[in-house]
This record gives sequence, C-alpha cells and structure tokens, in this order.
Amino acid sequence: MSACADCRELAVEYGLALTGSRRPNANPRRWDLPLTTTRVRLDDHLITTHPAWLPDRQPGCDICEAWRADYVIGPMDEAEALHRVEHLCEPLREICTPGRNELADLM
Ligand SMILES: [Zn+2]
Ligand SMILES: [Zn+2]
Repeated sequence: MSACADCRELAVEYGLALTGSRRPNANPRRWDLPLTTTRVRLDDHLITTHPAWLPDRQPGCDICEAWRADYVIGPMDEAEALHRVEHLCEPLREICTPGRNELADLM
C-alpha cells in the first residue's frame, strides 16, 4: 500500500514506541502511554482516511470467524473496523523489534 504523509509519520511514531517497548531493558510502564496514544492515532487515521485498506475478515482468526457467522449488511461497526485495522497493522508490529531496521527504511 502506498501511505500518505500522515500514515508514514503516525506509523513511524507507533513503530518507534513498539521498538522501544520491546528492548530487553524496557520498563513496560514507561511505554504504556506512548504505545496506546500512537496506536490510537494511527488506527483512527487508517479507519477514517483509508477505509478501503482494511482487510477482509481473515480466515483462521476467531474474532473474524465470529463475525462471519453473524454477517451484517451495511456499514461495518466500529469494533469491527478496529479489529480489521489490527490485521492491517500486523506487518508493522512484526518489523518493529529491536535489531531490525525495516522501520528505518519506512522513514
Ligand atoms: Zn494516510
Ligand atoms: Zn481477525
């Protein structure tokens, strides 16, 4: 996907928080707030600006499967949008571990 400037900035902020929180000597309490705020900002941006990017319900995911059984027609509700954005951000969570530098490429 080709990110707009906002996505890039928000993803990098969230990625830096993720990487920092995963360092071996990281204090989880120190990272709680930055992780939550940067993630909420990224999620909000993706859901409101790029709803077309949200992936379909993922096979093998219990939460997606539950929705599949209970199919709703019409706009997806907020809980589902938030869950789908979680799938969308999975690759970001994978690359943001200390010692990998894919995030640097994104910047
Ligand atoms: Zn964007
Ligand atoms: Zn799912």
